[in-house]
Amino acid sequence: MAEIKENGILIRNIETKNIMTKSALPVGGYSVNPYVGCTHGCKYCYASFMKRFTGHTEPWGTFLDVKHWPVIKNSQKYQGLRVVIGSVTDGYLPQEEQFCNTRRLLEQLKDSGAEILICTKSDLVLRDIDLLKGMEKVTVSWSINTLDEDFKSDMDNAVSIKRRLDAMKQIYDAGIRTVCFIAPVFPGITDFEAIFHRTKNQCDLVWLENLNLRGAFKKEILDYIQKKYTNLYPLYDTIYNKGNRSYFHALEEKAEELAKKYNCLFVDNELPYGRAEPGHPVIVDYFYHEEVRGSENTGRRNREE
Ligand code: SF4
Repeated sequence: MAEIKENGILIRNIETKNIMTKSALPVGGYSVNPYVGCTHGCKYCYASFMKRFTGHTEPWGTFLDVKHWPVIKNSQKYQGLRVVIGSVTDGYLPQEEQFCNTRRLLEQLKDSGAEILICTKSDLVLRDIDLLKGMEKVTVSWSINTLDEDFKSDMDNAVSIKRRLDAMKQIYDAGIRTVCFIAPVFPGITDFEAIFHRTKNQCDLVWLENLNLRGAFKKEILDYIQKKYTNLYPLYDTIYNKGNRSYFHALEEKAEELAKKYNCLFVDNELPYGRAEPGHPVIVDYFYHEEVRGSENTGRRNREE
C-alpha cells in the first residue's frame, strides 16, 4: 500500500473485510473503528496496545491507517444493538475532514435502528449534525478530564477543552443525547465537580472513570507527575505503586453527594437509552468498573480488537 506522510503523520490505506467488530463488552453490541491508530496521541492511551497487532513500529499517535470496507448490507440486523464508534481511535480525528470515513459509516448505519455511541475529543462531529439529527438513537460522548488547557495540552493533541464544550452544547441544543465523559480522572488534578457544573446543562450523562496506569505509559505518566506536580507524587505512588484505592472511594462518595444535592440519579451501570431532565444529568460511576465487572467498561477505547 502506498504510504504518505502528512504533518508528521504516516498515512496509509488498508482494506478490511468487515468494519463491524463484535464487542467483548458485557452489554454486547459492536465496536467500529474507521481508522487504525489515533493521532490525538494521548499519553495515557489505553488503545496504544493496538500497535502490537498492526505491524507499526512508529510511536503511537504518529501513524494512521485509513480503512476501506465493503458497504454494510442489511444494516437492520444491528437494530437495537449498541454500536460504539471510536473505541480504539477517534472517528473525528483531524484527518476525518479529508477521508470522511466516519461520515460514510454513519450514512451506512443511519437506518439500522442501532443505538449508536460516538466517542470523541473533537468538534468535527458538528459537521455531521444533519445525519445525527435523523437517527433514532444516537449519543455523542466527549472525554473531558480537565478545564485546564495547559494540562490538556500536556496530555493530548486533540482540540481544546473549550471547543469540546462548545460542540457538546451545540449537539445537545440540536436535541441529540450527549455524555460528558470525565476520564481518565487524574488524582489531585481532575476537578470533577467543576466539570460537572460546567456541563450539567448540556449533557444527559456524566461518566466518571479513574486513571488506570498499566503497561508502557505508567512510567511516562508517573515521571510527568513527579516533574510537573511534584507535590502529588506521593498520592500517585500510594495509588499506582502501592495499590491503595481509598482516594477513588472518597471520590465516589463525593460524587454521590453531588448527585443528591443536584437531584441527579447516581448509578454504577448504564440505564436503558433515554434523555435526562435538563440540568440533572445521570451520573454513572465507572471507578474501577473494569475490575468490579471483571471485564470491559464503558465501551471506550478498550480491548475489543
Ligand atoms: S485515548 Fe482515545 S483519543 Fe486518546 S489517543 Fe487513545 S484512542 Fe485516541
